Amino acid sequence: MLTAHLPAGYCLTKLMKDRPPLLLPVALFFSILPDFDLIWFFLVDGRQIHHHRYWVHIPAFWAIVGTVSLVAFWRTWLSPYVVIAIAAVFLHLVLDSLVGGILWLSPWDNTLYQLITIRPTKPHWLFSFVLHWTFLAELMIWGLALALYRQEGRAAEVPAQPEVVAVPVVRTVKSRPFE
Ligand SMILES: [Zn+2]
Repeated sequence: MLTAHLPAGYCLTKLMKDRPPLLLPVALFFSILPDFDLIWFFLVDGRQIHHHRYWVHIPAFWAIVGTVSLVAFWRTWLSPYVVIAIAAVFLHLVLDSLVGGILWLSPWDNTLYQLITIRPTKPHWLFSFVLHWTFLAELMIWGLALALYRQEGRAAEVPAQPEVVAVPVVRTVKSRPFE
């Protein structure tokens, strides 16, 4: 997946009803964290191996990190952050499985599993991906995130209903003066 990890992370936070402060930045950061390996891929490794073979793209690594973190921070104030972080990383790996390939069975199997294989039909690999029909999935995720963002904006715009205060009705009763 090329562009939709960030909006996917945004959509993920909307699934949580009680969102503590800074949950959204945490989710956004972890939704793109595995792709920081591109720095190593381009600048150090010289694009020798597929960056999805680095440990930050391997589910078994995150399963261990996630389990240890959940056990360590369960029922503390950090637990919602750990949950959203691990969920965001695994959402990244699932989305990368559409066309990029993920080592789901590593370390037992060295196969990059992907749902659809994109053939290099264009002069540059980027065009092969962007002009493939699977790129519609990325556009749909962007569309969903935008719709959720606008929906939340509209909800925030609705003015708070004024409190209805029961005011006792005082009636003045004219009584006849004593004659
Ligand atoms: Zn990735």
